[in-house]
Amino acid sequence: MSLDPFCKREETRGTVFYETKHFMLLYDIRPVVRGHMLFVSKRHVEDVLELTQEEVADMHAAFRIVIPKTLDIYCPEDRSYDLTSQIGRYSGRTIPHLHFHLLPRFKSDGYQGSAASTIFEDLALNKTHFTARQIAAEVKLLRKEFGYSLQH
Ligand SMILES: [Zn+2]
Repeated sequence: MSLDPFCKREETRGTVFYETKHFMLLYDIRPVVRGHMLFVSKRHVEDVLELTQEEVADMHAAFRIVIPKTLDIYCPEDRSYDLTSQIGRYSGRTIPHLHFHLLPRFKSDGYQGSAASTIFEDLALNKTHFTARQIAAEVKLLRKEFGYSLQH
């Protein structure tokens, strides 16, 4: 069985900007809103229910660090966000490796407060509103904000 993209170091190193013991934060390669990022478990699991208690505690600690800082960066006034995960073959997931999408939501995000399902429809249609250069700039910004540097 071939490795999925989240299990391949060479696929994640371009967009990773923060890590905890059990999770890594990646900027989405097809962001639907500015600041769209992914919490990805380092261990290959498909379902949140497969996480150990230690991994759940680590995930929650990552939420508490990353979410407020992300809102400070992308929507300091509106402070809204969507946190979603698609689990199981009928959920609409694309990569069968546990990840949570974090989407900063703000008044001018282009979705006027619609549910994430609308946003993910755009994702399925491959509508991306950002260029590779813009994405690289966001990764650079987030690495700076989170004090992250690649180890090698
Ligand atoms: Zn995997």
